[in-house]
Amino acid sequence: MKVLVINCGSSSLKFQLIDSETERCLAKGLCERIGIDGSMITYSPADGEKEKTVTPMPDHTEAIRLVLEALTNPGTGVVSSLEEIGAVGHRVVHGGERFAKSVVIDDEVLAAVEECNDLAPLHNPANLIGIDACRKLMPDTPMVGVFDTAFHQTMPEEAYLYGLPYEYYQKYKIRRYGFHGTSHSYVSGRAAEVLGKSYENLRIIVCHLGNGASVSAVKNGRCVDTSMGLTPLEGLMMGTRSGDIDPAIIEFLAHKENKDIEGILTVLNKKSGVLGLSDNLSSDFRDLEAGYDRGDENAIRTLKAFCYRVAKYIGAYTAAMNGVDVICFTAGVGENAPLVRSFVCEYLGYLGVRLDEEENQKRGEDTVITTPDSKTTVMVIPTNEELAIARETVRLV
Ligand code: AMP
Repeated sequence: MKVLVINCGSSSLKFQLIDSETERCLAKGLCERIGIDGSMITYSPADGEKEKTVTPMPDHTEAIRLVLEALTNPGTGVVSSLEEIGAVGHRVVHGGERFAKSVVIDDEVLAAVEECNDLAPLHNPANLIGIDACRKLMPDTPMVGVFDTAFHQTMPEEAYLYGLPYEYYQKYKIRRYGFHGTSHSYVSGRAAEVLGKSYENLRIIVCHLGNGASVSAVKNGRCVDTSMGLTPLEGLMMGTRSGDIDPAIIEFLAHKENKDIEGILTVLNKKSGVLGLSDNLSSDFRDLEAGYDRGDENAIRTLKAFCYRVAKYIGAYTAAMNGVDVICFTAGVGENAPLVRSFVCEYLGYLGVRLDEEENQKRGEDTVITTPDSKTTVMVIPTNEELAIARETVRLV
C-alpha cells in the first residue's frame, strides 16, 4: 500500500509518500509560508530532481491540493491517480490521556483531539487543519492519527505527576505527557532489532537530540519516563528552549525585564537554550561545533552545559530502570555530532561505557559506537518518524 504521511504545522506542511511493502520513500517535500506571502512547495521524487515552486497557498487545503497534484503529475509524479494512495497517516502532537495508541480518524476522534488543543495550542489546531483539508480532498481514503504523546502514556503515576496540588491534575489534567514519542518508540525498537535482542528484555535510554530534544527511558518495550512535560519546554536544554529552570525565574525576570508572562515564555521558548546560552552565537550545533574548534568561549560553555544535562538525564533514567543496557543517540544532533556524543559518554564511565572513537565518527547509519568490551552498549540510530507513522497507518487500516 502507498501511504501519504502528513506533518502539518501552522504555516508549513511536510509530506512523504511511502510504499509500505518496500518501506521506500517514493517522494517527499515541504510546503512553506502557507497563508503568508511568498508560499512555496518543494517536491523531491526519489528518482528525480528536486523542484521548488513559488505559488500562492492561502490555506492548508490549497497546500494539500498542490501536494496531491505534484504526486500525480504525469511527468514528475510517482502515482498515476489518487486512488493509488491507500491511506493517509497524520502526525498529531498532543493526544492527552485519551490516546495511548494511534487511531483511525473519524468525527468522534477529531472532537477528542480538539479537546486536547488547550494542551498544545501551537500545534494541535494546525494538525487538525491538515486532517480537515485532507478529508475534503480525499473523502474516501482512510486516515490515521499518530500521536507524539502516545508512546509515553505507559509512564507510571510517580513519573508523570508534578509536585503540585493534586486538584490541578484532576481539574486540568496538568501532568507530564512527553513528546517525540514516535521517534523514541521507533529508535528503541530498532536498537533491539539491530542488536538481535528481545525488545521486551532490554532497558534502553533514547537521547533524541534535535532542534527539540528529549530523553526517554524504555524498559522492556514500555516508556517509563521522559524528559519533556506538559509541554515540550521541560527537560533538556534545546536549540532555543530553556528546558528545566527554577519556575520562580519567571516572576523574577518579569519584574526585571518588565515583561508579561507571554513575553517571558517567548524568551524561554525562542531565545534560550543553546542559542541564548551561547550569547546568540547559534541554535545550530554545526555552528557550535565550529565555534568549539576555533576555541570560541560561547560555544565551549554551551556545548559543555548541553552535554552535562544529557548525561544527568541518563543518570536519572538509569536509576529509574535500575540499570541500563543500551543508550541510543538520534535526531539531527544525536545522529550527526560526534563531539556531543563523545562529551556525553565521558560522563558514563560508571556504566562501563567505552567509546570506539572511530565508529563514533560515522553518520547516518545504525551503528554501535562502543567497543565490544563496553559494559553498556551505545548506538546511533537514525530516526524515521515518517516510516513509523506509515507503519502505524497500515497496521490500523
Ligand atoms: P532535527 O530537529 O532533528 O531536524 O535536528 C536539527 C538540528 O540538528 C540542527 O539545528 C542542527 O543543530 C543539528 N545538525 C544537523 N546536522 C548537523 C551536523 N552535521 N552536525 C551537527 N549538528 C547537526
